[in-house]
Amino acid sequence: MKIGFLIDMDGVIYKENDLIPGAINFINYLISNNIPFLFLTNNSRKTRRDTATKLKRMGMPIEEKHVFTCAMATARFLAKQKPHGTAFVVGEGGLLHALHTNGYSIVDHDPDYVVVGEGTTFNFQIIESAVHMIMKGAKLISTNPDVNCPTPKGIRPGCGAIVSMIEKATGIEAFSVGKPSPVMMREARKEIGMESAATVMIGDTMSTDILGGIQMGYRTVLVLTGSTKTEDLKKYAFSPDFIVPSIAEIPIKQLLQPIRKVVETQRNILAEELTG
Ligand SMILES: [Mg+2]
Repeated sequence: MKIGFLIDMDGVIYKENDLIPGAINFINYLISNNIPFLFLTNNSRKTRRDTATKLKRMGMPIEEKHVFTCAMATARFLAKQKPHGTAFVVGEGGLLHALHTNGYSIVDHDPDYVVVGEGTTFNFQIIESAVHMIMKGAKLISTNPDVNCPTPKGIRPGCGAIVSMIEKATGIEAFSVGKPSPVMMREARKEIGMESAATVMIGDTMSTDILGGIQMGYRTVLVLTGSTKTEDLKKYAFSPDFIVPSIAEIPIKQLLQPIRKVVETQRNILAEELTG
């Protein structure tokens, strides 16, 4: 059976600036067996090329085409909704570049959309301008719902936190494109050319990676090297198909079996082992 992988980055293949042991081996396995894969990130700050360069410098044998960001998903979505539109951007290079590439103009008044992404450079005036534009009819889009992002010092506010300031002020809810939105999850699957049932999502976050995969009918693998601990799992009404300690232990043989029952048995065994 042919399968393809969508792989989250932070907490799955690296943590801060260190690769997680087994990550390179796994990617080498996929490349040498011609198994399609795509790294999926909800970070809209960097372009696809910048992200690929970061991974290559870490020793990952990948190319630009192996990276798909929520900024790309957002720009493609807007280009379909309103071709050649205009955007006021609360965000950084990755988002600006993706919008330009998809035919958008960046403006500082009367935009079709206010697009909010990750960033550290916004200030109160920018948020105030965004609020005025929305009250005048601009539509509010966020690249992803993550309320915080891990840093070596702890966490920093993420896109979800920044956009909620604008939502509270205007009373208007943003449309969010990144994981778990089907908009990004479906676009990523199309990039690797796989059917839903042949797509596997590997991630460390239940509310984005795993939820997004489950909603699309993909198979899901949760790794415990990132944001989720086994004791957190009881808070969720949905479960991944597999729970593994790290990317070094992706159950590739079981994933290649098409029988759902085998997968479910495996999930129960692994869940019991891990939760004791
Ligand atoms: Mg992650």
